[in-house]
Amino acid sequence: QVKRDPKIQVARLKLPILGEEQRIMELINENEFLIVAGETGSGKTTQIPQFLYEAGYAGTKMIAVTEPRRVATVAMAARVGHELGLSSKEVSYLMRFEGNVTKDTKIKFMTDGVLLKEIQSDFLLSKYSVVIIDEAHERSVYTDILLGLLSRIVPLRRKRGSPLRLIIMSATLRVEDFTENTRLFKEPPPVIKIDSRQFTVTTHFNKNTYSDYLKEAYKKAVKIHTRLPEGGILIFVTGQQEVNYLVRKLKAAFPYRKDMDYSKLITKTKPVTAAEAELDSEPEDIESDDDEVEKEMKRARKARKKAKLKSKALPKINLDDYDMPEDDGQADLVGDDEDSEGHLSDSDAEEDTLTSAIKSCRQPLWVLPLYSMLNSAKQARVFAPAPVGARLCVVSTDVAETSLTIPAVRYVVDTGKKKMRVYDHATGASAWRVVWTSRASAEQRSGRAGRVGAGHAYRLYSSAVFQHDCPDHHPPDLCRRPVDDLLLTMKCMGIDKVVNFPFPTAPDRMQLRLAEKRLETLGILEKPPMKKTKKGEEEVLKVTPLGKAVSAFPLLPRYGKMLALSHQQNLLAYTIALVSALSVPEVMSGKPDSWPATGNVQLLGDPGVLLRAVGAAEFAYVKGEEDLFCAKYGLREKAIKEIRKLRKQLTSEINLSVAGVDVAVDPEMRPPTDDQARLLRQLVLSGLGDQVGKKIALEEVKQGEDKRKFKYAYHCGDLEEPVHLHSDSILRKTIPEWVVFQELYETGAEERRKMVMRNVTAIEPEWLAMLVPQ
Ligand code: ADP
Ligand code: MG
Repeated sequence: QVKRDPKIQVARLKLPILGEEQRIMELINENEFLIVAGETGSGKTTQIPQFLYEAGYAGTKMIAVTEPRRVATVAMAARVGHELGLSSKEVSYLMRFEGNVTKDTKIKFMTDGVLLKEIQSDFLLSKYSVVIIDEAHERSVYTDILLGLLSRIVPLRRKRGSPLRLIIMSATLRVEDFTENTRLFKEPPPVIKIDSRQFTVTTHFNKNTYSDYLKEAYKKAVKIHTRLPEGGILIFVTGQQEVNYLVRKLKAAFPYRKDMDYSKLITKTKPVTAAEAELDSEPEDIESDDDEVEKEMKRARKARKKAKLKSKALPKINLDDYDMPEDDGQADLVGDDEDSEGHLSDSDAEEDTLTSAIKSCRQPLWVLPLYSMLNSAKQARVFAPAPVGARLCVVSTDVAETSLTIPAVRYVVDTGKKKMRVYDHATGASAWRVVWTSRASAEQRSGRAGRVGAGHAYRLYSSAVFQHDCPDHHPPDLCRRPVDDLLLTMKCMGIDKVVNFPFPTAPDRMQLRLAEKRLETLGILEKPPMKKTKKGEEEVLKVTPLGKAVSAFPLLPRYGKMLALSHQQNLLAYTIALVSALSVPEVMSGKPDSWPATGNVQLLGDPGVLLRAVGAAEFAYVKGEEDLFCAKYGLREKAIKEIRKLRKQLTSEINLSVAGVDVAVDPEMRPPTDDQARLLRQLVLSGLGDQVGKKIALEEVKQGEDKRKFKYAYHCGDLEEPVHLHSDSILRKTIPEWVVFQELYETGAEERRKMVMRNVTAIEPEWLAMLVPQ
């Protein structure tokens, strides 16, 4: 028997989903699978677990709810517990490093990664009577794998006489990937669409698209607050640093003082006119014609640049300096970089208008940050009403897009940007890039303004950008990344035939095969003993013990292998720096003559040059001279920053996970000794052992029609044509007999075409024998 607070009951009854309770429960009782689609804020996450609870689904077993984001895991557990009048002992959450689950837990919110882990130890999920996969439209890698697994677990549970229900919840109506995939569900599951009270939202595009979207967001928020009637503001930016920066900036503009009484403040209450709402056609924009504005901005930029050079100090804010993923369950190890003051405070004419608007405004802005890594107490503040007289303003990453509903938002400011992990299929390297959101996301974001009444959404980019630069949807994570590590993770879970796995959207089969082959060559997967494979049956590769160790690192398996092997050799600090450098593309351009070397250090080749460059760059960074250093030595500054982050992350992960190890990022790392460099050469081989080249005799170089004369070339694996050293390779001086390389690519057009290898290390042929550990 549930005893709800009457106030809560009143709020619940306003949600249309309450009227659907009976129909939803009938569908759940009569079906093993159900898809629930409904707008953000319609009550899926908070209400459906309660329906299930009241219908007795938490009797002997638990109700599981998975979230792709940590932020929603905590907040939704708290909210559902609150609405049901139960404590966190009964409605609990669990995610990596954190949780409050007890033996009395009835409803358990968890990150999708956590449920995936649980399947590893209890494949039938026997603790649960129902699993809700929330936010399935986000198509996170773990969610996709969970859906595939659950499509098989549910029938198994039925056979055991202990049925399990699966509910898939989506904030968009686009659910064909789940309903029309017959490998996933032979019979398409029923779909129930939840209505929501959605008020009209007027969308405003900017006329121009400026690259400094933080500045635009700030200006827009100021205009809304100083000119438009009451209603909360929700601003979308890309990451934690941007959130914190904008929060500080807006707080400074409209401070809230505890000792002041704002209750008498007269706020603008008359309805907003269409002209007023169109903030962009305000006088200052019309008066100055666009060219003037452009010129003015250019002047300001120049002045800023000059000032930067003069002050000699490093620019402290770096919008390219992205923080950690929001939703992968890893601790945020970045974010200690300070943001700069003065980023928004250039004194152009428009700024003056803003300044006077700010000065004459006495109403405070109640500015709150929101992002995944924010602690739960601070997250919870966005749900509480703003103090009397103050206007709520939440600056958020895309967690507020669908995962969390912030009450009372009437104005959305959308930078149109999001942070996305982008993979380089050639190097397997990945990087966080700021990209345009999809049009679907833009609509979701705008929709956030229409929950309590008619609202306005300000997109800080032009409609042309929306039409031409924003994709319809971003493809699911699983199809955007190389599958080597995914394959390894699934194999570690005991999913042997990954090719046959019922993914909602399958990754390319060829990619899967190639990944499997690479992992076998690296000794991460192996063929099972002969007797296990029946004739005609496809061989199923198994994970080796090395593979298990490798799967713990957030790196491509080949670099994970280098790390796993290096800790037995006391080379960890070097290897961490090295694999970090190899995981970031295009670190260096030009001739590496600045890094002369002999002996093994020279034979370590281009990775050795990288290693020393990274070491020296770190030292320059500590001295505050990183930019000068990078310019002088042809290093890409952004790459160097990414490498630094990865080094930090790997270092603390290894300290956490490997007992008895305590490495640090040493800003004064010496170049490796000759002996160390020899070991490093072997480690590089261990990771790149499937990419070996052997120098070939001169007559073999001139092949077929090719009239060009080369002094030397290499023979690589199955490739028939000769392969050449990259023109920047330091090994051009020695031209060793045997090499391994990081990457192979084609250059030149038509008859000038040739195959080139990049990042090359010399190896000894006798090392090849010890490549695959026995
Ligand atoms: P959905 O999952 O369909 O997006 P939710 O169940 O998260 O919807 O939200 C339903 C309603 O409950 C929303 O209108 C929202 O305003 C309200 N709500 C959700 N969480 C909270 C909270 N922590 N505090 C106050 N209201 C909340
Ligand atoms: Mg929800």
